[in-house]
Amino acid sequence: MSSPLEITSEVLRIAFRDPFRIARDVNDAVATTVLVELRDPESGIVGLGEGFPDTYYGETPATMAAVFPLLLEAVGRPDWTLHGLAEAGARMDDALGNHGAAKCAVDIALHDLAARRAGLPLYEFLGLPALIPPTDFSIGIDEPEVVAERARRAARFPALKIKVGGPSDLATLEAVRGVYGGPIRVDANTAWTLEGALAILPELERLGVELIEQPFPARRYDLLRAFQERSSLPIVADESAVAIADLDALVGVTAGVNVKLAKCGGVGPARRMLRRARELGFRTFIGCMEETSVGIAASAAVASLAEWLDLDGCLLLADDPFEGLELDEECRWRLGPGPGLGVARRAGGTSR
Ligand SMILES: [Mg+2]
Repeated sequence: MSSPLEITSEVLRIAFRDPFRIARDVNDAVATTVLVELRDPESGIVGLGEGFPDTYYGETPATMAAVFPLLLEAVGRPDWTLHGLAEAGARMDDALGNHGAAKCAVDIALHDLAARRAGLPLYEFLGLPALIPPTDFSIGIDEPEVVAERARRAARFPALKIKVGGPSDLATLEAVRGVYGGPIRVDANTAWTLEGALAILPELERLGVELIEQPFPARRYDLLRAFQERSSLPIVADESAVAIADLDALVGVTAGVNVKLAKCGGVGPARRMLRRARELGFRTFIGCMEETSVGIAASAAVASLAEWLDLDGCLLLADDPFEGLELDEECRWRLGPGPGLGVARRAGGTSR
């Protein structure tokens, strides 16, 4: 089945506002993300989508470009209802495993297009509420005093997510606690050992850390379970929780899961994964990569299904080429009035 939809894609390379280093990635200067436009010739309406390729999950802009035609063929002529978009997503999964960021870009654009056709903001098209929890703000690995200075500047956020996995994790967290009174979320991006994590755990509890994300490598369920059993703090699976099929194996292993559109394949898959995670008793986090406000607006539309939000990707970028998504005074993304994602290219904005 060929698709009547026309896709164009564009690779955006955008500098970070501050260097953004995480334990398993050395590139901390520039975010590389892929934007798509999906045009429906019948209505003339264009949907925007974004997928952030992460080489950790095997994706690059080149792999995304290579699979877009296959994904579009699988989508075919979609039925523009929510059910129809879910079926289109299932056909993409049948056609090709993995490739979450490529599917995410197409799926977000399909949802934006469908909601625009319906004249509705995306959250309303999805049957979800406009009010979502506030987002935290993430700070990359750096010298403790540098991280503390960034934490001081981010004091308006109701929680901070501090990247760890470097040589001075405890000193960093002490320095942050010295300037910031709110909840601290810690993300080791697979870099810790069980021994190291157990040694630092009493300090994390003392410092008022709220949760610990992905301390160990993705498939080390044994380590994650052993640590969760001894930790009063919730352990949240991120790299271990790519898509909905990963959830069953994490029951009894971690208390929480971090769902990201760019991992699981977009708006529809994230909505289903969050619902399933809650049914299974997980505490739910919705996170992001370093997307522009296209990807963040799509994530925000389903964020009412999560307990914790880390939707700050576009805030980490020096130059977001899109506009229309705003934080309120409590650091909640304001949803609506749309239509669709409610974001558009900034006039005169650079995109490369
Ligand atoms: Mg993470």
